[in-house]
Amino acid sequence: MSSRQHHLLQQLPVDLNDISLTEWNEFFDHLGFRPGSRRQVFEAVFHEHVSGVDGIPGLSKEERESLAHVAVIRRSGQHELSRSRDGSYRLTLVLHDGHLTETVIIPEWTNGTLRKCSASISSQIGCFFGCSFCATGRMGFHRNLTTGELLEQVRKAEEVVRQELNADLTHLYFMGMGEPMHNYRAVSDALTIMRDPEAPGPSPSQITVSTVGLFRQIRMLASDHPEVRLAVSIHSADQQKRYEIMPVSSRLGLPEIRDALVFHQRQTGYAPTIQYLVMEHINDRPEDARKLVAYLGNLRAGITLIMYNDVPEAGLKRTEKEKIDVFQSVLEEAGFPVDIRWCFGEDINAGCGQLKVCRSEERVSVSMRHGLQSGCAASRNPADDQ
Ligand code: SF4
Repeated sequence: MSSRQHHLLQQLPVDLNDISLTEWNEFFDHLGFRPGSRRQVFEAVFHEHVSGVDGIPGLSKEERESLAHVAVIRRSGQHELSRSRDGSYRLTLVLHDGHLTETVIIPEWTNGTLRKCSASISSQIGCFFGCSFCATGRMGFHRNLTTGELLEQVRKAEEVVRQELNADLTHLYFMGMGEPMHNYRAVSDALTIMRDPEAPGPSPSQITVSTVGLFRQIRMLASDHPEVRLAVSIHSADQQKRYEIMPVSSRLGLPEIRDALVFHQRQTGYAPTIQYLVMEHINDRPEDARKLVAYLGNLRAGITLIMYNDVPEAGLKRTEKEKIDVFQSVLEEAGFPVDIRWCFGEDINAGCGQLKVCRSEERVSVSMRHGLQSGCAASRNPADDQ
């Protein structure tokens, strides 16, 4: 029995949502389950999202009893759905322990035709890293979401898209609350499960994982999930300035991040998206754009400039359009395709930097993520247009 397995069995009941895929067989070996029954449990938990051991079909009486003795399946209790004037949705789930998590759904229309419908899901409750512009960081870190909770957000987002728009979810972004790469095991397991066409979620090539630059996990993602896209928040190509914006960057050197991006590109063939949250008087000068150009060098990448929403809690401001234009032209003249993202959902507090994780009676937090927050999350990689 592995130490983690031992640990699991010390904390009964085990939440089946939280058993890693590598532990799955060992756990069910321990219970004496047949291979077919393990598969039944797996599909019931991760594909069909049954809400209790009793709901799992195809088990023998003995298997059901032994499983019920040691395991539970924890599901979110309820959800709230808000719709913005701009057509985006904010889906709030109340998790089994009372924590709230948010998913933002963004339909994009062209000439009255729904061209794309994306969801941005959360990966953690709070965040460990404390970026200056980010209210999620101010919550502190509470816990990682389980694989089952990640997939539940995807499944519920798909339900909303079907019910509200009679359409399918086409793109998925791990860009909600929290740093997905800091919850790598659960995110990686969710990505593995979503490879199965029967599982919830769009095809892997339409899935993007965002990070502040956890370079070891970038390499792991490239090896474990080469079909998945990558977005990295840089926000400044000056190490000292980046440190002031994102204290975590004291441990995430820009050269190491760039090496990991090169590795990722070699492994996957994809151009990463470089996310850059533009903040007035912080990182919006032409000189800052030139530093970004020099940093990226010959790396093939698309750059998404994100327009900051004024958020009183953060004390930061959005840069004026004229300055953005200059910034953009420096990047484009250097050959980088640039996409500018304005926010969706500002009237329902789901826009960049405004997403409030709240219940009607209880405001829990204001959240912002890696610069591609909520409404900004539906970003395509402009390098794909080349
Ligand atoms: S921007 Fe991302 S990494 Fe930084 S504090 Fe917010 S959630 Fe955490």
